[in-house]
Amino acid sequence: MFVEKFKNQIQVFEQKVIASEKIKILPHYNPDGDAIGSALALYILLKKMNKDVEVISPSHFPGFLNFLPFSNKINIIGKKREVEDSFFDGLDLLIGVDFNGLGRLDKLKQSFDKSSTFKIIIDHHPEPEQFADLLISDSSYSSTAELIYALIMSSNFKDKFDKDIATNLYAGIMTDTGSFSYNSSSPETFRIVGELLKAGAEKDKIFDEVYNSFSLNRMRFMGHVMLNRMHILPKLKTGYIYITEKDRLQFKEKYGDTENFVNIPLSIKGIVFSAIFIERENFIKISFRSKGSFDVNIFAAKYFNGGGHKNASGGEFYGSIQETMKKFVSIINEYSDELINYEF
Ligand code: 5GP
Ligand code: MN
Repeated sequence: MFVEKFKNQIQVFEQKVIASEKIKILPHYNPDGDAIGSALALYILLKKMNKDVEVISPSHFPGFLNFLPFSNKINIIGKKREVEDSFFDGLDLLIGVDFNGLGRLDKLKQSFDKSSTFKIIIDHHPEPEQFADLLISDSSYSSTAELIYALIMSSNFKDKFDKDIATNLYAGIMTDTGSFSYNSSSPETFRIVGELLKAGAEKDKIFDEVYNSFSLNRMRFMGHVMLNRMHILPKLKTGYIYITEKDRLQFKEKYGDTENFVNIPLSIKGIVFSAIFIERENFIKISFRSKGSFDVNIFAAKYFNGGGHKNASGGEFYGSIQETMKKFVSIINEYSDELINYEF
C-alpha cells in the first residue's frame, strides 16, 4: 500500500509544500502524456493552495495534449533558448515528474543539478539515480500519474482534488498504458481510474483528443511509413521502422507526429519486439517496444545510451540511419536464440 510504503515521504512532501512559496515543476525532455499530465495535476493542486507555481518543460510537448486543463500555462524552454546555471535560483521547491535521471532534463540538467533548492522526484521508472532530496519512486505503478493520485489522496491536500486534476491524471495513465493495453494489470490501477471518472474525467473525450487527433499529413505519413519504411524479421519476431529527415519534411512533420509509430509492427501477429529510428538534426532518435519479458530498458541502456521501462524505452545513436539499422540488426541476431523461441 502506498500509505505504508511512503509514510515518511508523504510527510516530508506535505511539510515542504506547506513551507514553500515559489515552486517549479518539471517534466522530462520530450514529455509524453504521463509527464505533462502529472506535472499539470500537481500544478493545479499547488495553484489551489495559492502557491507561486510554474511548470517548466525542457522541450515542446505533442499538440494532442493541448486540450489538457492548464496546458497553456506551461513554460517551454525552446531549442534556441540559453539556460544559465542560476536558472533555478531563488526558489523554495523543485518537483520533477516522470524521470529517473538528470540526463532526461536535457538543457535544464546543469541548472537543476547546481540548484540548492530542495528537490522532490516523483517517478515510476526502474533504478532511479540518486539526485533528489526526496524520492517517491515505484516502478510497479502504471504511470507517474497513478503515483501522483496516490500521493495526493494520502496527503492532507486531498480536498483540493478536482475534475481538472482528474482529467490530467487520467490522460497520464491512459497514455502510459497505451489505453490500458500494457502496464495496467493491477486492479488498483482500475480502482484509481474509477475514482478519476467519479471526479469527472471524461474518458471518451480524452481518448478522442489523444488518439483521434491526427492531421491528414500525419495519417499519410503513417501510410508511407507502413508501406515503405517498415522491415519485418518474422523469425526474430521483430519489426523496425526508419524515418529519414526527407520523410519528415515531405509530410510536414509536426512535433508529436511520430509518437506511437513504434507500436505499428507490434500489431502484426507474432511480432514481439519493435524499434523505430528517426533521423533528427544531429542524431538518430530511437524507441523500442516489446511484449512480455523481453526487457527493452536494458537493451536501450546497453546498446543505445538510453533507458526507460521493460516494455517501452528509448535511446539515441550518433551516426547515419543506415549505420544505426546495421548495428541494430547485428545486435538482434545475437539475440536470435532468445527471440526465435520467445513466447508471449
Ligand atoms: P519514447 O520511446 O516514447 O520516447 O520513450 C519510451 C520510454 O523510454 C519513456 O519512459 C522515456 O522516458 C524513455 N526514454 C526515451 N528515450 C530515452 C533516452 O534517450 N534515455 C532514457 N534514459 N530514457 C528514454
Ligand atoms: Mn511515465
